[in-house]
Amino acid sequence: MKNIAVIGSGTMGNGIAHTFAQFGYKVVLIDITEEALTIGLATIAKNLDRQVSKGTITEKQKKEILLNICKSTHMESGVAEADLIVEAATENLQLKLQIFRELEVFAKPNAIIASNTSSISITQIASVTSRGDKVIGMHFMNPVPIMKLVEVIRGYATSDDTTSRIMELSANLGKVPVEVNDYPGFVANRILMPMINEAIYTLFEGVAGVNEIDTVMKLGMAHPMGPLQLADFIGLDVCLAILNVLHDGFGNAKYAPCPLLVNMVMAGKKGIKSGEGFYNYSKGVKEATVAAKFSKF
Ligand code: NAD
Repeated sequence: MKNIAVIGSGTMGNGIAHTFAQFGYKVVLIDITEEALTIGLATIAKNLDRQVSKGTITEKQKKEILLNICKSTHMESGVAEADLIVEAATENLQLKLQIFRELEVFAKPNAIIASNTSSISITQIASVTSRGDKVIGMHFMNPVPIMKLVEVIRGYATSDDTTSRIMELSANLGKVPVEVNDYPGFVANRILMPMINEAIYTLFEGVAGVNEIDTVMKLGMAHPMGPLQLADFIGLDVCLAILNVLHDGFGNAKYAPCPLLVNMVMAGKKGIKSGEGFYNYSKGVKEATVAAKFSKF
C-alpha cells in the first residue's frame, strides 16, 4: 500500500496525513472546503516545525514530508488511486454511511477502506458497501504523530487478510496495533468516555471545580492530563457523539451524557478547537472557566 487517501482534515485527519507522509506514503487529504484543507495543512506544517525545533527531523525532511501530501475537495478524483482510504470525517453515523456509499463507487475495487471512528459500528458502516471484507476500523489516538496506539477494529465481515495488512501497516508507521472486536466504543472509548462523563457530572453536581477535578486525577492517578482537559483536547462534540453511541448501543442509562456536556456543545463550546470548553484558551494559556458558570458548583 503506497497511496493513501485521508477523508477529513480536522483534528485527526491532518495528524493521520502527517504520519503517513512522514513514513514515505503519498497522501491525498480530502475535505469539503478549501478552508478546512488550508487549516489542516497549516496544522501539519506547524507540527512539523515543532519536530524540527526538537531535532527529531531536519528542515529538509520537513519539506519532503509536505511534498508527500496533496489536497482535494473532490472525493472521486481524490480516492481514485488510493490503496487505502482512511475516513476521519465528523463523528456522525449518517455522514459516514454517505461517505462509504460514495467510496464504494469511487474507490479501486481492491482498496481497503478504514474508518477512524471513535465508536460507530464498523459492521454498520461496512453494510452500505459490497466489500465488507475490506472495511476495518483504524482508530488512531490524538495527537496522531505522537501517540503509539492504533486500535484495529474487526467488523463482522472484516477478513483475516485485511486485518493482518492493517496490523502490519500500523507497525510500519511506528505504532503498536491492538486488535479488538466491533462493539460500541470498542475498548478505548468504552472505558475512557464514562470516566470523562463522570468527571463532568462531578463538576455539574458541584462536588469540585474544573482545576480541582483535573488535579485530583493528574496527581492522584498519575494521568498526564485531567479528564476535563482531555475532553477539551478531544473535542466536546466528539465526546458527546461517542457517549450517544454508547448509550444507544448498550441501552444502558449509565452512558447518558451529562446535561452540562450537552449544554456546552449546544452553546458551541467544543474545547480547544472552538477556543473554549472547560478551559478558555483565548489568552494563549488555559484558564478554567465557563463550565463552572453552568454547573451548580
Ligand atoms: P473534526 O471535527 O476536527 O474534523 C472533522 C473534519 O471532517 C472536518 O474538517 C470536516 O469539514 C470534515 N468533513 C465533514 N464531512 C466531510 C465529508 N463529507 N468529506 C470530507 N470531509 C468531511 O473531527 P475529529 O476530531 O478529527 O474526528 C474525526 C474522526 O476521528 C471522528 O470519527 C472521531 O470520532 C475520530 N476520532 C477523534 C479523536 C479526537 O481526539 N478528536 C480521536 C480518535 C478518533
